[in-house]
Amino acid sequence: MAVRSIDELELEGKRVFIRVDFNVPIDEDGRVRDDQRIRAAMPTIRHAIKARSKVILASHLGRPKGRPDPSYSLEPAGLRLSEILDQEVLLADDCIGDGVNKMVQDLPPGGVLLLENLRFHSEEEANDPTFAKELASIADVWVMDAFGTAHRAHASTAGMAEHVAERAAGFLLKKELDYLDRTLKDPQKPFVVILGGAKVSDKIKVIDALIARCQFLLIGGAMAYTFLSAKGSSVGGSRVEKGSVEQARRILGRASERGVEVLLPIDHVVALDLEGVGRRITEGVDIPHGVMGLDIGPRTTELFREKIETAGTVFWNGPLGLFENAAFSKGTFAIAKAIAEASCISVVGGGDSAAAVDQAGISDKVTHVSTGGGASLELVEGRGLPGVIALEQ
Ligand code: ADP
Ligand code: MG
Repeated sequence: MAVRSIDELELEGKRVFIRVDFNVPIDEDGRVRDDQRIRAAMPTIRHAIKARSKVILASHLGRPKGRPDPSYSLEPAGLRLSEILDQEVLLADDCIGDGVNKMVQDLPPGGVLLLENLRFHSEEEANDPTFAKELASIADVWVMDAFGTAHRAHASTAGMAEHVAERAAGFLLKKELDYLDRTLKDPQKPFVVILGGAKVSDKIKVIDALIARCQFLLIGGAMAYTFLSAKGSSVGGSRVEKGSVEQARRILGRASERGVEVLLPIDHVVALDLEGVGRRITEGVDIPHGVMGLDIGPRTTELFREKIETAGTVFWNGPLGLFENAAFSKGTFAIAKAIAEASCISVVGGGDSAAAVDQAGISDKVTHVSTGGGASLELVEGRGLPGVIALEQ
């Protein structure tokens, strides 16, 4: 079913409740350390201001355990927002109640009100119907733009939808749906999928969903050792999920039935420990006893790069090594660079993957970097997200 976008609605004079994701890191001085998520919500917020609606913003921040906790206040986010907008942002001291109702009533068209942390009420995560109704009582329109929490059925991300007159997706959510759902369901071929990261078990469903659509599957990161183990290579002391070796074998079988070419590492950067003691590059695919694989080797990087060059569409999830340590970041950054240089549609999903793309300095050369971690992967799996289903009703 189609989801309406915010620009399809008449907003003038209406109370527009926008569920944003302002779950930003706050430093010790109470300032926003990284305002990426606030910036990501700006197109929707600016649109609602320009349309002269009463703009009501709501978000969660951190895990305040269902009761007010000043260390999780959204005040720093509100201050940052007002700097970006160069406009006053009113801050409520709660997200429901008489005080909030009055502030909404008095809000002029084009004015912005930021509600206090939704998770100061345990009813938010419990998707309590009474709480959802109360949130909805201050809104004519519910706009869902918090993609990072769209996979959760909470009061503000799903429950309140049925109690408002109109619903729409914000621009951020819309963009995520366009790229992670539409583009990856009907990719330009050849469709090259690059998977890495820590665990196979986290990603079985994503792999299954992507095998049905891709032509090439490139596997690196820690999860590669479980696959190599399934193929009978020696992996030394590398991280292998013993319980997933059989799954990996099944995945390889399915890929071959479907004509998907799977590329696994052909060399590795290994070391005695995670700090990089005894770091060296293996000659071939086998890893000797006592050392573990912590990055893809240069020949693997080249093999992957050549495949990425031919792609019509690339989807990448999961770093190809322990990239947080500079000694093992080369493979991940080289692949990021290869994606940036390729003339294809490129989509990156996953929290650590997005961080890697950012550190590699190529975010603006990727067609779409998803802002959602768990939500991105659930969408790629083809699972319906509660926050999106609520828009469809
Ligand atoms: P994403 O958040 O993008 O979905 P994951 O959470 O699945 O990615 O995986 C990221 C983590 O995997 C990173 O912390 C990275 O250090 C780790 N990782 C990748 N390759 C290895 C490896 N060979 N050994 C140990 N850790 C690895
Ligand atoms: Mg992660």
